[in-house]
Amino acid sequence: MNPLDDTHDPALKTWVESGNDPVTEFPIQNLPFGRFRTKDAPGSIRIGVAIGNQILDLAAAGLIDTDDMNTLMAASPDERRRLRLSISTFLRGNGANVKAHACLVAQSDVEMTLPCRIGDYTDFYTSIHHATTVGKQFRPENPLLPNYKWVPIGYHGRASSIGVSGESFPRPNGQIKPADTDTPKVGPTRRLDYELELGVFIGTPNERGEAVSMENAQAHIFGMALFNDWTARDIQPWEYQPLGPFLSKNFASTLSPWIVTTEALAPFRTAFVRPAGDPPPLPYLDSAANREAGAFDIQLEVWLQTPKMRETGHSGERLVSSNFNGAYWTAAQMVAHHTVNGCNLQSGDLLGTGTLSGPEAHQAGSLLELSEGGRKPIRLANGETRTFLEDGDCIILRGYCEREGLRRIGFGECRGTVLPARTHC
Ligand code: CA
Repeated sequence: MNPLDDTHDPALKTWVESGNDPVTEFPIQNLPFGRFRTKDAPGSIRIGVAIGNQILDLAAAGLIDTDDMNTLMAASPDERRRLRLSISTFLRGNGANVKAHACLVAQSDVEMTLPCRIGDYTDFYTSIHHATTVGKQFRPENPLLPNYKWVPIGYHGRASSIGVSGESFPRPNGQIKPADTDTPKVGPTRRLDYELELGVFIGTPNERGEAVSMENAQAHIFGMALFNDWTARDIQPWEYQPLGPFLSKNFASTLSPWIVTTEALAPFRTAFVRPAGDPPPLPYLDSAANREAGAFDIQLEVWLQTPKMRETGHSGERLVSSNFNGAYWTAAQMVAHHTVNGCNLQSGDLLGTGTLSGPEAHQAGSLLELSEGGRKPIRLANGETRTFLEDGDCIILRGYCEREGLRRIGFGECRGTVLPARTHC
């Protein structure tokens, strides 16, 4: 597990003034990793750590000797802790010299890229509330399939269409079969949805053939970011049987640019509890450490900004809030299950948690749940309504951790905008 050390001390201050702002998501206790490029050198992708409204360029500061994030992520947990300590030490105190200041870049002056090369992407389904509500819509007679409480369900997604916060993408076309006809048609989705997820990044890889035990699983996780797994709800039901999600899911997914590390999240671990009467996980998915502190208390929010809101300077309306701590499977269980057959995970691989809906209706992580399958439009404060997303809509995911006696840390934003469909076939 990740013991707390002096990098978590809530009293720590940095010489980067904005890093001490009480409302910053990036105080010195956070130190999330990302990649960026500047206008002066657009060809060069740099590795940095967010501090206040600035970025510390790690190579310029002499703190790393690689320009490859995936190599950095592959480091052992001890090496990662040492790097965190050296970054924290570099940023501490009041009086930085001119040379240290020269290693900072304003976040407003850079373009963030994806935080690493994502070789493979797997999406899980860890919210039993999401699985049950969605299951009811697809199979009213049999909402939660019998394997759910035994198997961390997942499918292999597509990495090429994952983009970074700030992106926009066209409404996808696809094959849709209306309920009242026998033949499908092709055209733009009318039921475009978001999914509120976290993306779990693999750090240390495992060899092919080598299963990662629950005792070691957490050590393979580099950190987490916000993840929006956009979904076309009218393409999905027609295509998903018998092999699972396909084109309803792989046209776009959006990640926040900063990976909040396992080390930064350590103070926000919490007990993993199964509801009474549910089967305990099989031994390969169970450990004392997982029961005691395998879950993470990460508060999550979904915000919607419609084009009308944008025109009037309105920054958006919060639709829901939820929390990762209610998930039926932990991040460590996702890793242990993914590798039980000897599948090798590589540095930079992304494991989506699945839509993180909570038990209450207002904690739903998708419009499919919020609008009850499109039957109940959501009324927004400005009088607009939505069942699914319209062209120009921007979805913003936010996430943060807070606990009494600790510095609050945040994930930044994961923002994506829907463009009109391209001319279709
Ligand atoms: Ca998903």
